[in-house]
Amino acid sequence: MNTEHTRRRLVIGNWKMHGQRAANASLLDGLRANASAASACDLAVCVPFPYLDQARAGLQGGSIAWGAQDVSKHEQGAFTGEVSAAMLADFGCQWVLVGHSERRTLHGETDLLVAEKATAALAAGLTPVVCVGETLAEQEAGKTQEVIARQLAPVLALGAEQVGRVVLAYEPVWAIGTGRTATPEQAQAVHAGIRSQLAALGVPEVRILYGGSVKASNAASLFAMSDIDGALVGGASLVAEEFLRIAAA
Ligand code: PEP
Repeated sequence: MNTEHTRRRLVIGNWKMHGQRAANASLLDGLRANASAASACDLAVCVPFPYLDQARAGLQGGSIAWGAQDVSKHEQGAFTGEVSAAMLADFGCQWVLVGHSERRTLHGETDLLVAEKATAALAAGLTPVVCVGETLAEQEAGKTQEVIARQLAPVLALGAEQVGRVVLAYEPVWAIGTGRTATPEQAQAVHAGIRSQLAALGVPEVRILYGGSVKASNAASLFAMSDIDGALVGGASLVAEEFLRIAAA
């Protein structure tokens, strides 16, 4: 485990299914105008598909990148309603979330499908942020490490070259949108477990974000942990000042 933090921090906002053109415009303006307050880390926002072009127009040329919240595993074809990785790249996306717990739970996404989506993203030159995390019942049954290992298995099976180009996000389902955050020590323990798996594969420097009710008030204590490389932020990413305060932490 690293005692000195060598990996560049990364904070990604997940707008989820929120937004409207006028409100987005002021959020994007607020982010862009004040991004220098958080220049010590990489910053990105993952917006709903219809707003990708607005994110591009509002952010291009600045220091904040943008991306999407899901991607198809398919390259193209008769897949009504799906959006390909090449389409995301066409809108200047650098990032895409895959396997967010809301996709896994509400849309039945399997561990294998998540790995396939990550592969599609990588093939189009995007960086997939592969989300993993256990439910409250799994956590209470002491199954956290087992669940994370199961979710990660098809991703790690892609091999060192591919895995070396992803970002992972540990998001305990019981902490997402609940106001209940994992303690820094709880999150660090899971991140350290993931880090050992990455080290065994030869890619120990892959960034691992924590997500789950991260706010400006708890970000610094999470970021103080040696294996927490930043955050995936849902609700708090909808307010520019709060999001940038997290990034500045
Ligand atoms: C998320 O949507 O990935 C998330 C972590 O949400 P929140 O920060 O609102 O818990």
